[in-house]
Amino acid sequence: MQNIEGQAHNSFCATKFMSAPQVELKELNNLFFELCYKACNLKCKHCYIEKNPYKQEKDFIPLDKIKNALLQTRGENISSIYLTGGEPLLHPDFNIILRMCLKFSNVTVMSNGVLINDKKARFLRKIDDENNFETIYRISLDHFDELKNDEIRGRGSFRKAFGAILNLAKYEFNPIISVCNYYQESREDLFKGFYELFKKHNFEIEDINLKIMPYFEKGDSDDFIEDFDFDKTKLDCCNSRVLSANGVYSCPALSNDFRARVGSDMSNYSKRTFLDTQKCAKCIKHFGKNQVNDWM
Ligand code: SF4
Repeated sequence: MQNIEGQAHNSFCATKFMSAPQVELKELNNLFFELCYKACNLKCKHCYIEKNPYKQEKDFIPLDKIKNALLQTRGENISSIYLTGGEPLLHPDFNIILRMCLKFSNVTVMSNGVLINDKKARFLRKIDDENNFETIYRISLDHFDELKNDEIRGRGSFRKAFGAILNLAKYEFNPIISVCNYYQESREDLFKGFYELFKKHNFEIEDINLKIMPYFEKGDSDDFIEDFDFDKTKLDCCNSRVLSANGVYSCPALSNDFRARVGSDMSNYSKRTFLDTQKCAKCIKHFGKNQVNDWM
């Protein structure tokens, strides 16, 4: 791979001649399975994945890849497995994958909630009860105001996600609201808005029920790494890896980006990541400087 073979890693560093910083994987604590990349049932305006608006993609990861990865990482100190997408519940083998993963660790499912109706939530409770590990559902809902949410996530998405959260709560999950902070509001205002919204429906959210991710604009930017004094342990690439249908990547923000590809499967991947993308520069500015990393 170009990066690992020692070529210059200077594209987004402060000076043209300075090498990009590197991060070593300290321990594999978070294992992400990207069940699909483009397959999704929403078309959010701010989604970082480029999709064909006229075509429903079905790029699901094969079940065998997941089975193998679970066996290959058995000796690691994994505290959570994350099922992501696209929309992970669209995977035809989602229930099998969830059951398999729950034999190894707690599992966080990152979903838009569209498919989690009452019946599905009841079934997910049954799967959870079969295992000693816990399932955590993170449902994307970007604003407590229906119009503001649907402006970015599409008409009807608020009601679906809102319904999913209440259905999960009904079956004794403790769902997490995952907010992409598109409107750049304060945590206090967002928390207050969501708290009041859900309280009316007998679900009292606490701090732990709200994860707020910064909104990074799509496309190229002028961001570059100007300050090399940052806390590497706050970056996902320090304790995570992502397995997608296309290989292993250093963090969820860069999955399927060739610059962050560190191997083909979980038996053989590089522990080193070069931070040489503009996303890395944004990520370091945000997370490497004492901000809470709400991914985990
Ligand atoms: S985007 Fe952030 S977590 Fe991902 S490789 Fe770059 S610095 Fe690490």
